[in-house]
Amino acid sequence: MQEPCPRKCPLIEVRDIRKEYPLGEETVVALKRINLNIMRGEICCIFGTSGSGKSTFLNQLAGMEKPTRGEVRIGGVPISRLDENQLAAFRQHHLGFVFQAYNLLPNLTATENVALPLMFRGVPRKQREEAARRMLCRVGLSHRLDHFPRQMSGGQQQRAGIARAFIARPDVVFADEPTGNLDSKTTVEIMEMICGFARRYHQTIILVTHDPEMAAYADRIVRLIDGEIVSDETRSRQKGGTPTCL
Ligand code: ADP
Ligand code: MG
Repeated sequence: MQEPCPRKCPLIEVRDIRKEYPLGEETVVALKRINLNIMRGEICCIFGTSGSGKSTFLNQLAGMEKPTRGEVRIGGVPISRLDENQLAAFRQHHLGFVFQAYNLLPNLTATENVALPLMFRGVPRKQREEAARRMLCRVGLSHRLDHFPRQMSGGQQQRAGIARAFIARPDVVFADEPTGNLDSKTTVEIMEMICGFARRYHQTIILVTHDPEMAAYADRIVRLIDGEIVSDETRSRQKGGTPTCL
């Protein structure tokens, strides 16, 4: 990523993006005209009810889909204009993901799953698996290193998902309803973990949720209704300090 930018300049810049989906004869306008700057180290929540456009917005931000109009830049790189190969390389070097359904590979152990982002960066096997084991210990899974996803609870799988998202120290971690399948106690643990890593390493988090309890962890809450930003609130830090396990 380019680093000439002074510290005050935004890490993520969203300019006039619009996203349309063709649906039969009709067109669904999922995002209308979104403008947003997100700074390095910010924990930014994209908040709204179901169907408000949150996942569509995250997909444009992370380069998973191309906006119909407008542009997204991360660290000055116009990711909405990169081709598939450039995007894959960009994601491997700069982005991490935490999924609602965990998305661990079923035939790999926890250690192998967490080591994957380092494999894509060319780190030799012994080193990357050592780093993965350290990461799994940090998320409280030292007793599950060689377990397969099906042998772990949802909360444990999501801890492994977090270890995988953060292991390569990405600039931005995207999380779309990361605790959507988890109980409230586990939700707190998972959110503390995500925010703890991000604060310690000054990483940017884009957290998509419809749940006000989760939004309470963010520094900033951007609220969407019908594909438009209707409010953008910066908050003082209350929750999600560095937990002792980190
Ligand atoms: P949220 O994540 O806030 O629940 P989405 O971003 O998934 O909302 O969806 C926003 C709107 O865009 C909805 O009306 C949804 O039906 C529509 N939409 C999302 N993806 C597609 C698609 N691939 N094709 C057609 N419509 C879509
Ligand atoms: Mg969604």
